[in-house]
Amino acid sequence: MLDRALVDGLFPADLPEPAELEERYPPRELAEGALVTRFGPSPTGFVHVGGLYTAMVSRDLAHSTGGVYVLRIEDTDQSREVEGADAQFRRAFEAFDLMPDEGDIPAPSGAYGPYHQSARAAIYQAYVRELMREGKAYPCFATKEELAEISDAQRTLKLPTGYYGRWAPWRDASAEDVAAALDAGKPWVARFRSLGLVGERFAFTDRLRGRVEAEDNHNDVVILKTSENPVRLPTYHFAHAVDDHLMRTNLVVRTEEWLSSVPVHRQLFAALGFDPVDYAHLAPLMKQEGGSKRKLSKRKDPEASVDFYLEAGFPVPAVQYYLRGLANPRLAEMPLAEALATPLRLDEFGLAGPLVDTVKLSDISADHIATLPGPDVLAGVRTWAAEYDPEIVKVLDANPELALAAIDVERVGVENPRKDLAKWSDFRDAYGFFFPELFTDVTDPADERFGELDPSLVRTVAADLADTYTHEGDQPTWFQQIRDLAARHGFAPNPKTYKKDPDAYPGMLRDAANVARVAITGAQRSPDLYEVTRALGADEVVRRLRAVTG
Ligand code: GLU
Repeated sequence: MLDRALVDGLFPADLPEPAELEERYPPRELAEGALVTRFGPSPTGFVHVGGLYTAMVSRDLAHSTGGVYVLRIEDTDQSREVEGADAQFRRAFEAFDLMPDEGDIPAPSGAYGPYHQSARAAIYQAYVRELMREGKAYPCFATKEELAEISDAQRTLKLPTGYYGRWAPWRDASAEDVAAALDAGKPWVARFRSLGLVGERFAFTDRLRGRVEAEDNHNDVVILKTSENPVRLPTYHFAHAVDDHLMRTNLVVRTEEWLSSVPVHRQLFAALGFDPVDYAHLAPLMKQEGGSKRKLSKRKDPEASVDFYLEAGFPVPAVQYYLRGLANPRLAEMPLAEALATPLRLDEFGLAGPLVDTVKLSDISADHIATLPGPDVLAGVRTWAAEYDPEIVKVLDANPELALAAIDVERVGVENPRKDLAKWSDFRDAYGFFFPELFTDVTDPADERFGELDPSLVRTVAADLADTYTHEGDQPTWFQQIRDLAARHGFAPNPKTYKKDPDAYPGMLRDAANVARVAITGAQRSPDLYEVTRALGADEVVRRLRAVTG
């Protein structure tokens, strides 16, 4: 074991002592059963929907038990850091209502910080120094080449590769060797002296999976990265142990990829004299591809990114509802409001990765939007458009009454409201035609949207309807004028009549109505035409019909 002076000389003199840290971050005073959870994203790229999912689960479990949900930014890998990552987290958490109770976002708050790991360097070093003083960790000067030689030799002997036991050259190095390496200016990392032996088994109870058995850790893992870095930061393993102890986390919710690290984490907690923390390892979000399932991939799947949901404008409650249903399938059977208010239960998580299906999400979302009052729909569209489609904001603001009337078409007072918006970005396609700024007059009677009809007939029919147009009256009265119009121009009144002698007619009633529909809405399919004309008003209807002049 290295003597205290040598160990202390490896670190800055002004590090705190563990006892001070224990005092600075005392156990939290919370009711029995209150869960302290945290979400620990690394700022290494866009926010993944899996991160949103983990954050949601962490926050929900904390809040439903009267606990605390912490956001800790795990930025110890500064080479992989992406600029603007904090802003991205802020945006995503704000949008999906996942702001933490403690953390640096939206503004620094909480007594257990700092909440960026890069600002906790002194804290980690204090504990590394303590472990070294106790002989539970040591400086290792092995170079990359030496490490590669070690694993080559292990492979030749068919031994597990790694830094352990007699394969750990610096494990029991003498003070003289350490001092000589330091004098020679060699960089060093700190390694944990594992007490695990090759081949030993380890078992623990995961809160989600029950008993989990795995090979125990026997590696002297790196706990503090190289002294060549300007700021000495820990590895994930060590930061996890120190932070989750000092932040007084009592349930670590993280994805399954960390399951195999639990043995080393438990060893670190024990060596540091910390009570072990509980874990809930979530199954990762998956994607169906062909006949098989695979992990949702940052690289391949646009829907892996939170931006996908923001840009498309899926309403937040629909996404929340969807994610909650993935977590606890029972909630997917409940109405949305009830599911959002029902706490998640750890015993209801599946162990197979839930499938992310954007078609399903769209259905959920369309159902949800269909239940919203018109002004809420417009508010949703407007908020989304402010960021992603500013022209829509201008249009809504310029036509507030028309917007309300348009959104109510076939949505108010009907048994099955229209479901033409699954996301706010659908507004332009589904409702754009109502607005003069977004509607392009159909002027060409030969336009293919009019179907097979002779262009001169199209022009005549449109002009006739414009000349004789009667706006007032109920739906049947209004539609009677379309029937009359069709009859005047020789269209068959129904398909049956038409089919008996197709050559006798230019088309059937439906084709004549299509002239009106295309001229008024720009499309062959639209909401109920009568209702559309209520929103547009007589003048605009006539103006659009007259536009078909060729
Ligand atoms: N920073 C880790 C990651 O992004 C967090 C894992 C954890 O929650 O402990 O995967």
